[in-house]
Amino acid sequence: MSDETCIFCKIVQKEIPSKIIFENEDNMAFLDINPISEGHAIVIPKKHYNTLEDLPDDELSKLFQVVKKIAMLLHEKLNIDGYNVVQNNFKAAGQEINHSHVHIIPRTFGDMKIRLSLPKTSATNEELDRVLSKLKS
Ligand SMILES: [Zn+2]
Repeated sequence: MSDETCIFCKIVQKEIPSKIIFENEDNMAFLDINPISEGHAIVIPKKHYNTLEDLPDDELSKLFQVVKKIAMLLHEKLNIDGYNVVQNNFKAAGQEINHSHVHIIPRTFGDMKIRLSLPKTSATNEELDRVLSKLKS
């Protein structure tokens, strides 16, 4: 199950070289060639799935077990204070490669690498209820 035009499938097939951190039967972890910070890693299922929604639950479970393993490895071996686990889905969310993948981005205090700007105003009770009713309808 692979896509011939997919760069991550080519990495899995070793047609494109990568700096592999870890590999097993189902998953692979390698260094991002455009790292946001030192040690920025990508974890992928070896099979081609477009987005989170396409990943069967058992594959998802195995994928995130590797995400945890690699996150702990980065935390232990690199001099970092924390890390972000980021998983983009669809173009609007910044997914650039349509082979579902997880970023692990090492962070240090004050690095200013990723800044989530949280809104200063709270939603009203009515706004929250409106969304909740859509989700539950
Ligand atoms: Zn692929």
